[in-house]
Amino acid sequence: MPGALGASSVVTTRLDHLRANLDAIRARVGDRLVLAAVKADAYGHGAVEVARMIERTGAADWLGVATTSEGLELRAAGVGLPILKLSVARGEEVRAAVGAGLTLCVTDAASIAEAGAAASALGTTVRVHLKVDTGMRRIGCEPADAPALAGLADATPGVELEGLFSHLPISDSPRGEEFTRDQIALFRRTADQVEAVHGPVVKHLANSGAVLGHPDAWLDLVRPGIMVYGAYPDPEAARTVALLPGLEWRTRVTFTKQVRAGETVGYGRTWTAPADTWIATVPVGYGDGYSRLLSNRGRMLIGGRSYPIAGRVCMDQTMVDLGPATDVAVGDEVVLVGRSGAEEITTSEIAGLMGTIPYEVTCLITARVARTFVG
Ligand SMILES: *Cc1c(COP(=O)(O)O)cnc(C)c1O
Repeated sequence: MPGALGASSVVTTRLDHLRANLDAIRARVGDRLVLAAVKADAYGHGAVEVARMIERTGAADWLGVATTSEGLELRAAGVGLPILKLSVARGEEVRAAVGAGLTLCVTDAASIAEAGAAASALGTTVRVHLKVDTGMRRIGCEPADAPALAGLADATPGVELEGLFSHLPISDSPRGEEFTRDQIALFRRTADQVEAVHGPVVKHLANSGAVLGHPDAWLDLVRPGIMVYGAYPDPEAARTVALLPGLEWRTRVTFTKQVRAGETVGYGRTWTAPADTWIATVPVGYGDGYSRLLSNRGRMLIGGRSYPIAGRVCMDQTMVDLGPATDVAVGDEVVLVGRSGAEEITTSEIAGLMGTIPYEVTCLITARVARTFVG
C-alpha cells in the first residue's frame, strides 16, 4: 500500500478507469459537450487529481462543482477548464466566484443582479446558466418565467447568458419514464422560448440516469457524475454503458485470534461465535467512513476469499470471521472495495447493504484514509 505509512488504509483512485468511463460516455452521446461533475471532492475520488486528468486528456469539456470553494480549489490547482457551479451562489461568495472565472447558476432576478454587480465591480463579465425547475423542486425558476429572466440577464451589464439547464429527479429508473419524458418536453419548449428572446444557449439536462436511458435529454451538453466514477445511479438504471470501478480501498490485518463458541465480538455483543472460530481485526471503521450500518452485514476480501463482518463496525477497527481454520495472518492485505482474486466488492453492493446509493459510500470516506492515484 504505497503512501499508507501510519494511515488506517489507502484509497486508490483509478484515473485510468475514470478516463475510460468518460470515453464510453462520449461514445454514447456522440457530438455533445461533456461536463464531468467533480463536486464533493469528485464524489470522494479527489477533485484536483480528477480535474487535472480530465484537463490533460480532454476526457471532458467542462467541470461541475457544487460550492464556490470547490471551484476555487480547482483554480488554485491550475485547472483552466470551464467550471460551472451547479447550485446558486448568494451573497459574499459571488464576487470570489466571478473573480475565479467560475460560470454561475442563476435562478431569479436577485441572483442575476448579484452576478452583474460582482462582475462590474471586478471590471469583468460573468457567464451564467439559467436554471429552470421542470419538476425536481429544488432550485430554479418556473418555466414560464424563464424568457423574462433571460431578457433580464441580457439587460444586465457584466452578465453573459450562456446556458439553460434543468435537472431530472428520476431519470435513472423505469418507474420515472413518463415523468422524465414530460420534463424533457417541458424543458425543450422552455428552451425554444428562451432562445426566441436571447438566441442560442447551451441547453443541458442529462445526469447519469439520462445519459444511460434518455437520449432525448442529451441536447448540447451532458452532465454525468456517478457514471464517471464507475457506478450506476440506481440498481434499476439501464446499463447501456459499461463502466469500470473508480476506486479501490485496501488495508492490512492488524490482529488475529481464536474465539470460542459462545463468545461475543465487539461493542454491544451483537455477534456470538456459533462455534470455535478465528477472527481478524482490520484497522478501519466508521471514523474512516466505513459505515457502522455495515455491522454484521458487510464483508471484506482477504487472499481472494470473502469474510463476513462479525459484530459492530467500531470507529477505528472492524472484525471479520475467518472460520474454524485459516491461514490469514497479521499483515495480509484486506480489500474493502475492489477485487481480490475472483471476488469483487463494489460500492453499489455496499450501498445496497446500507440502504443508500453508491454516491454516499464514496463521499463518506474521510481524510484519515491515505490517497493514491493510478493512471
Ligand atoms: C450532481 C449533479 C449531476 C450529476 O448527477 P449524477 O446522478 O451523479 O450523474 C448533474 N447535474 C446536477 C445539477 C448535479 O447537481
